[in-house]
Amino acid sequence: MNKNLKGALNKMSNVKEAIEKHTTKDGLPREAFAIVGDPEDPETWKLPHHTKAVVDRRPRYYHKRIDLAKTTVDWDRMPAAVAALSRGGYRGERVQAAAEDIIKAARHLAAHYQAANKPVPDTLGALI
Ligand SMILES: [Zn+2]
Repeated sequence: MNKNLKGALNKMSNVKEAIEKHTTKDGLPREAFAIVGDPEDPETWKLPHHTKAVVDRRPRYYHKRIDLAKTTVDWDRMPAAVAALSRGGYRGERVQAAAEDIIKAARHLAAHYQAANKPVPDTLGALI
């Protein structure tokens, strides 16, 4: 095998390994969650609301300015995330988090609505 090609293939498998090494929860990287207590502990990641494409760790995209946060919002999951932050909770259960983390998450989700020119839900508005 050509030496350069062999080197390139080795490099590719290293990249693949690096991508797979990243911890996920339900197939999602931590960046997909509005609350991340401990980056190393998926149990502390709450309110998933992005698709797994929220991070693109492929090196060739490293220098590209793509607004992944904006384009990867999973709008199907947003209502549940919003409800979990509200005082009433999602199906009666409010997310377990520090008050400041709840406010931060509410601001984060509200920013997605604003960026998409959607009305910010009242339940978020009441928190921020
Ligand atoms: Zn987000």
